Amino acid sequence: MKLIRYGKTGQEKTGVIIGEISYDTSGFGEDYDEVFFASDGIKRLSDWISANDLKAIDSGVRLGPPVARPSKIVCIGLNYRLHAIESGMEIPKEPVVFFKATSAIVGPNDDMILPKDATKADWEVELAVVIGKKASYVSEENALDYVGGYLVMNDYSERAFQLERGGNWVKGKSCDTFAPLGPFLATPDEIEDVHDLNLWLKLNGETVQNSNTSDFIFNIPKVISYLSNFMSLLPGDVISTGTPSGVGMGMTPPRYLQAGDVVELGIDGLGSSRQVVKGHH
Ligand code: ZN
Repeated sequence: MKLIRYGKTGQEKTGVIIGEISYDTSGFGEDYDEVFFASDGIKRLSDWISANDLKAIDSGVRLGPPVARPSKIVCIGLNYRLHAIESGMEIPKEPVVFFKATSAIVGPNDDMILPKDATKADWEVELAVVIGKKASYVSEENALDYVGGYLVMNDYSERAFQLERGGNWVKGKSCDTFAPLGPFLATPDEIEDVHDLNLWLKLNGETVQNSNTSDFIFNIPKVISYLSNFMSLLPGDVISTGTPSGVGMGMTPPRYLQAGDVVELGIDGLGSSRQVVKGHH
């Protein structure tokens, strides 16, 4: 199943994509949130869809993030070999973990707003995992049972805030609009092999990131199991699994986002998103 949320910011309704057509599911009466995932919502929604006539959604509608605001976004840093090298960092021995504020979440095609005083805003196409049921101390062997779905995320990063302002990375990762999610959440049955998905990002039409999840240093079962030793992962939580090489920081000279830039990104089977960069106002 492919889940979407659509409509005005903060007032999104739920929907599904079946074939090429998006349908409204707001009559189901639940948002795609922690309670939904925790209470076998995917299965219940599927049953509801089978029993009801669905209305198609106008194709021009704004898409929101496919999940309602989760309890946390946990990100993995430096999880592709070439990206670690371009960042001038060592290949990590254990997953690098950081948080991104959930207030950074926006819809897949919403504008990216440069923060005040931004000088080094950068892009990062990532495969994100949405947790389907509470995960605490899970084994790698069972970890994929805890996945509710997958989606595309752009882990926007302000490198000066991230790396030149002291402390950890959170300041450069959490600005408003720094976490476009979607276009849709795909349940695991939609994805044949999550460790063999091409992912790409274009800046103003030019491909700058182009890799495959087979290049992960730490695969998804490892990441889920690892994180669950340090925190409970709750239904609806988003885990972003790291970006491949091709970010602006790694270019010679480095290249950072400016108002007017257009960023497009996508992953096999998970669709694509598009953000226009705007100045702060
Ligand atoms: Zn990232």
